[in-house]
Amino acid sequence: MASAELEAKRCHSEKISSYPSFPPACLALLKSIEGNDRCIDCGGRDPQWAAVSFGALVCLQCSGHHRSLGVQVSRVRSIEMDEWKLDEVIAMLEGGNEQLGTFFLRHALTVEACVVKKNKAINKENVMRLRYKTKAAQFYRQQMQLHATSVLESGPYRGREMARRKKRPSATRRNSE
Ligand SMILES: [Zn+2]
Repeated sequence: MASAELEAKRCHSEKISSYPSFPPACLALLKSIEGNDRCIDCGGRDPQWAAVSFGALVCLQCSGHHRSLGVQVSRVRSIEMDEWKLDEVIAMLEGGNEQLGTFFLRHALTVEACVVKKNKAINKENVMRLRYKTKAAQFYRQQMQLHATSVLESGPYRGREMARRKKRPSATRRNSE
């Protein structure tokens, strides 16, 4: 983890504003983030696509669902094939599937929670797609963007643990759905 952070530091000290793909030096850190070995939505192994707005990794199939939500809701990028801006890379390094999954769990936006709560608008059949359009998800997305911008403006990236001490997207907001 520590060496991955050092690599992350190195790639962020480069004076360029975008990368032809997710920067290879940061990839190890991205993959090491808790939960990032599985698609946030279906649990598929080794997801290669990113829901950048949420700092989460998704599989090819689920990336299609995210794309259908529109870029206002979820911006989709390929780890390998798309160009990446610096703030997008930071959002990915500061987010993570475990963190987002915990947020959804607390807001009863998982299949299991929907069964228990019997939420009428959002049910176990549509929760994996519709949860990204909820007010809770909108809040998470906004906090993610604010956090990435603040990390970017605070100078060279010092690694996830340093940034963690600053304000991060809250997983404790009450459900307003
Ligand atoms: Zn998936």
